[in-house]
Amino acid sequence: MDYQNFFAQELQTLRKEGRYRVFADLARHAGHFPRATHYGAQGRQAEVTVWCSNDYLGMGQHPAVLAAMHEALDTCGAGAGGTRNISGTNHNVILLEQELADLHGTEAALVFTSGYVSNLAALSTLAAKLPGCVVLSDELNHASMIEGIRQSRAEKQIFRHNDPDDLDRKLAAIDPKRPKLVAFESVYSMDGDISPIAALCDVAEKHGAMTYIDEVHAVGLYGPRGGGVSERDGVAHRLTVIEGTLAKAFGVLGGYIAGSAAVCDFVRSFASAFIFTTALPPAVAAGACASIRHLKTSSVERALQRDRVQTVRRRLDGVGVPHYDNPSHIVPVIVGDPVRCKQITDILMEEYGIYVQPINYPTVPRGTERLRITPSPLHSDADIDYFVDALSTIWSALSLKRAA
Ligand SMILES: *Cc1c(COP(=O)(O)O)cnc(C)c1O
Repeated sequence: MDYQNFFAQELQTLRKEGRYRVFADLARHAGHFPRATHYGAQGRQAEVTVWCSNDYLGMGQHPAVLAAMHEALDTCGAGAGGTRNISGTNHNVILLEQELADLHGTEAALVFTSGYVSNLAALSTLAAKLPGCVVLSDELNHASMIEGIRQSRAEKQIFRHNDPDDLDRKLAAIDPKRPKLVAFESVYSMDGDISPIAALCDVAEKHGAMTYIDEVHAVGLYGPRGGGVSERDGVAHRLTVIEGTLAKAFGVLGGYIAGSAAVCDFVRSFASAFIFTTALPPAVAAGACASIRHLKTSSVERALQRDRVQTVRRRLDGVGVPHYDNPSHIVPVIVGDPVRCKQITDILMEEYGIYVQPINYPTVPRGTERLRITPSPLHSDADIDYFVDALSTIWSALSLKRAA
């Protein structure tokens, strides 16, 4: 077989379908969020404003976070030095786990190298080890959850998105004696809709099922202390496992689960993707810890973000650029065509110095290709005006459909 030719052909197919991924080469500027330098073709450099960051609150450059990271780097050095088991359990990771357990009001928490790894490790271990386990998975769950469930080789049933009645029907049809695990998210990142956590817990409890929630797009952002939608709704205690990331609203890197001492210890003791990999560097753990601590007591960032999101929505409505209405901080502008979607973002970048990544299949279903806009507390009124005017001009130039 001509291996190289095979790789090239497959990539060519992606290009033809307009969904070949091109990464924007950026240098973010601490102190000037959301600005960055974009390194373009032929060594061209341009200053751009980022409108699609998952560093939702700009915590990745917060002085308290940077100070904690500098201090840990200077006192503990760069790397962790090993897996958690073999010399890698730096004290900063222990403090971070305590901070996370406090955030969610759980007995314990367990930190992983990313949110992806935490879902993969926890779901694959729980579903594989519970004898005869059936996993009930929301149809729009993230790739990392799907992968964890797949690796467990447990039986999987998919329930309709955010539909407690469908979950109820599916659970009712399963042998009551079998262990059951219901896996879902709180904020779904592409449509920005929020799950009915209490109603899903009602159904799970009725059938004696465990619950596993991914709060990756909610931690830091929802609830009076940033404990996520489960904190906001007062239902954190009803979930068996709360999973989150340290890389989005908390602005650093890493993932975690929070739950009972027994469930965290179980995953710690049996999950391959936890055991056989080097622990987070001390500075990363210290930075995440400082970020969580800050957002536990400060609501300034959350309030300002909400205001910015509302302003963007209002201004888009004003010019008739259609966007999904949802109760979260994510503003999806549906384009519905991968080539058009890329064209819009190319014009934004090249002519306006605005960076929004086009979101195409398989991240979202074909025909729903979109711009996913994430306004932050640090986008000014002038940034919003400039962005919305640019979109409106492009909508006219490309004769795109406007909202009524
Ligand atoms: C980003 C994401 C993850 C993975 O988190 P990382 O810390 O980026 O690995 C998990 N779940 C959802 C829903 C996500 O969007």
